Amino acid sequence: MNRNSLRARVTAFYVSMLAVALALFCFAVYGGVRAYLTNSMQRTLIHTAETIITDYVVPLDTKGQSWFQNEMSESYPAGISDPFVRVSQGGKILYESGDIREPFVEVSGLALPADSSVLNSFRRVRADTGQPLMIYTKSYAGQRGSPILVQTGANMEPLFHLLQGLVVILMMAMPVILIGAAVGGHLLMAGPLRPVVALTEKAESIGRKELGERLPIIHSGDELERLSLALNRMIDRLEEALAHNRRFSADASHELRTPLTIIHGELEALLEIPGLTTQAVEGISSALDESERMSRIVHNLMTISRLDSGGERIEMRPVELTSVLKSTLDHMSLLADEKSILVTCNAAAPVWVTGDSMRLKQVIVNLVDNAIKYTSEGGTIEVTLQAEDDKAALRIADTGIGIPAESLPFVFDRFYRADRARSRESGGTGLGLAIVKAICTAHSGVVSVESSESKGSTFRVQLPLLPLSERDAALLESSPALPRGGSNSEESAVESPIKS
Ligand code: ADP
Repeated sequence: MNRNSLRARVTAFYVSMLAVALALFCFAVYGGVRAYLTNSMQRTLIHTAETIITDYVVPLDTKGQSWFQNEMSESYPAGISDPFVRVSQGGKILYESGDIREPFVEVSGLALPADSSVLNSFRRVRADTGQPLMIYTKSYAGQRGSPILVQTGANMEPLFHLLQGLVVILMMAMPVILIGAAVGGHLLMAGPLRPVVALTEKAESIGRKELGERLPIIHSGDELERLSLALNRMIDRLEEALAHNRRFSADASHELRTPLTIIHGELEALLEIPGLTTQAVEGISSALDESERMSRIVHNLMTISRLDSGGERIEMRPVELTSVLKSTLDHMSLLADEKSILVTCNAAAPVWVTGDSMRLKQVIVNLVDNAIKYTSEGGTIEVTLQAEDDKAALRIADTGIGIPAESLPFVFDRFYRADRARSRESGGTGLGLAIVKAICTAHSGVVSVESSESKGSTFRVQLPLLPLSERDAALLESSPALPRGGSNSEESAVESPIKS
């Protein structure tokens, strides 16, 4: 259970609230029961004392001592009376019910009331046998002698036992109620939170490829419904802004193409003019180089913008990637040879994917070209292609300069170059990997990189494999559109970044 989840926090909150409420309730129950039992005991003691005075003490003067003794021992027999009673006058005991038997409580040793401060009040004393007792004393001023004092007393131990039992029950019930509430609440919270979980999962997936999808609307009529609607409106605005941005990039690159072609043509025409000074020729040639570079950037930018916006038409057909890879490497071997770089290719079995062979070739060209560009003379490049589960896995590993760790997250960004000087020197535009990523995304694939500086880099491309049934159909059809070792038309269509 995630302790930071809303569900856990809400459960923890209301369980704490419930614990506080239960604690207050337990205190109230305990206090109430205790007060009730004590009051009942006090009422009994008062009532007994008053009964003794009315029924036996008041007629004492007229009826005599022996009548009094008889009546008292009948009503409050010695040794078994609870409450215990004692009647005294001037320090002399007139009658005492004596020690209580079941349970045995020794009360006969209790002192007689010392002064009038104890009259009409309750005292707590401890019996010689250890039990706590509550004693009530009431006086009656007779016609003769000093006032007659009536003491009534009760054992408080049963009351305390009862209260202890109550505390045990409450203490045992509280954790059971709290655990039950926590488990039940946690399970109950799952229902209301389910739409939020679905909303989060959908929000996570939206935008990985496109913003075309929308969040599910929670029809609860409350804040959650408003949240889902507000988030969808936000995605609408984001999509609009993104589309605007892409249209702008695509339009800008398109608009730049014509003036660049004109500049290029004009510069070439200028070079033809006879009698130009060496300085002028050098200047015009340099401008021509830069205009070519700019054309490449504009072309690449347009490709990415179109791929991103879906404007670039991608032919989704069965493609046998191993043949495409081998023919591409064949054509690039010269470049590697120039730098004495050994290129090995581990791709024996045919690997079928769905896609645009021209674009997939461009992925290979860009990655292998980079590997050659950023590997020193005498280095090696290892290219592997195989089917792994339901994916075609292409791996291009070089022993080149590597990419600094801080640059790794950005290498697929447009115009990002880890080593600007070196990239520019080798004719790089910083758009090669952005194109690779855009093509992979358009093919529902992914590209990733691992690298350590001065040791080398490994680029991995994963594309969904063509389902077996479609592959068999493609083989049977043997359509001329299928790549068979790479046709000339394909090669000429891919703009190779290989510089001569
Ligand atoms: P560029 O045209 O500059 O090569 P890319 O988009 O192809 O642009 O690559 C972006 C940056 O990633 C490069 O500038 C380079 O710093 C780094 N890079 C790409 N591939 C490799 C590689 N195989 N080895 C080392 N660095 C690489």
